[in-house]
Amino acid sequence: MPQLGFGVYQVPDDEAAATVSAALAVGYRSVDTAALYGNEGGTGKALRESGIPREELFVTTKLGNADQGHDVALRAFDDSLERLGLDYVDLYLIHWPVPAKDLYAQTWRALGEIHHGGRARAVGVSNFEPEHLTRLLEETGVVPAVNQIELHPRLQQPGLRAFDAERGVVTEAWSPLGRGNGVLDDPVVRKAAAKHGKSPAQVVLRWHIQLGNVVIPKSVTPSRVRENLDVFDFELDDDDLREIQRLETGTRVGPDPHTFG
Ligand code: NAD
Repeated sequence: MPQLGFGVYQVPDDEAAATVSAALAVGYRSVDTAALYGNEGGTGKALRESGIPREELFVTTKLGNADQGHDVALRAFDDSLERLGLDYVDLYLIHWPVPAKDLYAQTWRALGEIHHGGRARAVGVSNFEPEHLTRLLEETGVVPAVNQIELHPRLQQPGLRAFDAERGVVTEAWSPLGRGNGVLDDPVVRKAAAKHGKSPAQVVLRWHIQLGNVVIPKSVTPSRVRENLDVFDFELDDDDLREIQRLETGTRVGPDPHTFG
């Protein structure tokens, strides 16, 4: 799985093909979509028409909250593949645990079957807290490949990252740039950017990379799409990392996984 990919949340379906094509053209090979984003169609079109060999692409999509439950999930996966126009995805995730519905464990069994059938090369979860992961492991023994969670300098998730790592689950950061929460304007980030001759967004993405997180920044602005990929030619030092660690406020930009859905 590439450590840096391209997220397409809030990209309208009729703009997704052009947006994803532009990202592939500048070098992204991993794309993160979801049934809930309503843009699997445009995203799949760009992937299919890119001319890039399928095995060089890494495609992630997610099961919507309304489609939890064993049989419903199997059908929803078929629908996602059909909208994408692909034979398989590289990663299929349960988008949210939705504890109030209490269906995520049986949904996880369905994803295991999809994985065994070969149409998802890997399966995982998103927005799962330790208690949700523990339940999956206890009831099925099958470890999710990935847990995609909200993670940025204002919400660094040290406990959940460690929990994932101890169980061999890769942590993937959504809203890695904090989705407009001001962290890119923070003096600490701006200072590090000036010091390394990079942009604030590049500093934050580099911080994720050095922590070992997978990141999927989103932008529809061509210069930013390019900029966000260009984070492999510099290194943050211990002072930078220590100062960024102090930016934690515990503040989310998205919903709380315990109650959402
Ligand atoms: P993000 O942190 O990637 O922020 C995106 C915003 O930051 C852009 O809209 C733009 O305004 C700004 N930005 C991007 N590049 C910039 C740059 N170089 N300089 C300055 N500003 C820049 O937030 P996101 O879109 O919420 O998250 C990224 C991806 O994560 C999504 O597209 C989606 O694929 C995924 N996601 C998943 C979940 C989930 O529940 N699993 C939830 C939200 C997002």
